[in-house]
Amino acid sequence: MVEQVDVAVVGGRLAACALAAPLARAGHRVVAIDRMSFPSDQLSTHLLMPAGTSELAKLGALPRIMALNPSQVRWLFATAEGSECRERLRPANDGIDFGVCVPRTQQDLCVVEAARDQGAEIRERCTFTELTWRAGRVSGLRYTDAEGEEHELAAKLVVGADGRRSNVAAQVGAWTPYRLSQNGRGLVFRYVDDPRAGTRDAETYYALREGESFGFAFPTAPAGKLLILFMGHRDEATEARKDPEGYWTRKLAEHPRLRERLAGADPSTYTKLRSTGETPAFFRASSGPGWALAGDASHFKDPVTGQGMRDAMWMGRTLAEHLLPVVGDTTAIDIATREWEAHRDRHCLPAYHFANMDTRVEVQSPTVCELIRDAGRSTEPDIGDLFGRARTLQEIAPLPRLARHAVTALVRGERSRRETVLTAAEEIRTQLEIRRERHADRFRATRPVTGSDHPGASWPAPPVAIRARRAAAASAASAPPAAADVRQEIPA
Ligand SMILES: Cc1cc2nc3c(=O)[nH]c(=O)nc-3n(C[C@H](O)[C@H](O)[C@H](O)COP(=O)(O)OP(=O)(O)OC[C@H]3O[C@@H](n4cnc5c(N)ncnc54)[C@H](O)[C@@H]3O)c2cc1C
Repeated sequence: MVEQVDVAVVGGRLAACALAAPLARAGHRVVAIDRMSFPSDQLSTHLLMPAGTSELAKLGALPRIMALNPSQVRWLFATAEGSECRERLRPANDGIDFGVCVPRTQQDLCVVEAARDQGAEIRERCTFTELTWRAGRVSGLRYTDAEGEEHELAAKLVVGADGRRSNVAAQVGAWTPYRLSQNGRGLVFRYVDDPRAGTRDAETYYALREGESFGFAFPTAPAGKLLILFMGHRDEATEARKDPEGYWTRKLAEHPRLRERLAGADPSTYTKLRSTGETPAFFRASSGPGWALAGDASHFKDPVTGQGMRDAMWMGRTLAEHLLPVVGDTTAIDIATREWEAHRDRHCLPAYHFANMDTRVEVQSPTVCELIRDAGRSTEPDIGDLFGRARTLQEIAPLPRLARHAVTALVRGERSRRETVLTAAEEIRTQLEIRRERHADRFRATRPVTGSDHPGASWPAPPVAIRARRAAAASAASAPPAAADVRQEIPA
């Protein structure tokens, strides 16, 4: 039997729930399927700035999150090469003035329950198998439930919110990103009991750069716990797996400020180290006839700036806003998803470039060190705004400000004139290219930005089963259309 719904979603976490909740609230029938059963963990740290907390509030999940007693983070402390700043985070536009950092097992359950409260159906232990097509348009999907029984949903739109290895993307021909950037850094993290619980330090996110390496400390949930994250070269993930405690000791020796932050912590409270080095950034074609991709399925940026969860919820919510006026009309849906994709790119590109710059494994440039120093003197939260998405790097550091910081760095003379001038010239060139890209406003822009898009990332082939199914589908009369032409301009 085929079940009729308005929107079918593959995936049941952040992007999926942020999409499903407002649609269901407006009376539309939304079914999301996830192969996991919640609570369920993810290999991910989970920092949210106030703008991310605000997305949780819009999703209706914040009361549940607050019941977990998370630390409410209102400060950011950033250092690099002797420069530092402590900033009060700017509240989000709805007045929420704190970030939260809730482990995924608990956070994602809150999100699922909030979406259900608003009428969305989230079906657990249900695995997506294939899309159905009608006249070149996606018409629904099939899935298998926990008992192995097959089901079919007919939908006006199918959304893949099924993460980076999106099966929906594979089946619509969008598996291979049209823009891909190699990550320089890996992630290694663990939880510890916070020796400074109850102080202002427990309301502060720490981003401590020592040479080429980043060390972070995030107060988490419940209050009194701390997440410690190292982001050095991506090969460090392998090193940490081979010799976890040796790696930990080496990194703490490399990071005196983080060691100081952890002074007095009880090692018996340390959890196991978790790690990954596989985090290339990408954009996929994210809309087509009868389908769309949201969250990590559609776009992923290096986790070094901690934007992915906020953006996954932002994408789900804004996609719902584009769909709400048109849910009954499939032609209008296809226009809306395409317009949404263009809107998503405009919104996410500055953060993509920012993360690409921070993933470079190198000592912070003298110009950016001056920017951090200057931020420490001003009453404006510059660095906080950058991580909090209140302003872009281009807004915070217009070219005259960058040039001024380059001159100050030259006068300070901590590094050679040659290094200071060369890195400043490279930074200014990258900033000019980013501005040019923004001005051109091309749909699915593929041209790499020097100093931001990093070559060398390899992309796996789509899962074998899907390749076989697509080959079969291609020979059938109902064959899906070829992968979207990524160079095509959005119609006026
Ligand atoms: C190491 C690491 C650290 C990170 N740290 C941060 C951070 O500190 N802050 C931050 O904001 N972001 C961070 N991110 C990014 C963040 O994890 C993601 O952006 C976010 O999880 C995306 O949410 P999503 O809902 O799009 O997808 P996901 O969380 O990936 O959820 C996808 C869901 O789809 C389901 N699914 C997949 N395939 C199928 C199928 N065939 N059938 C049914 N269900 C399926 C999965 O079970 C899963 O539940 C980090 C990422 C990584 C890798």
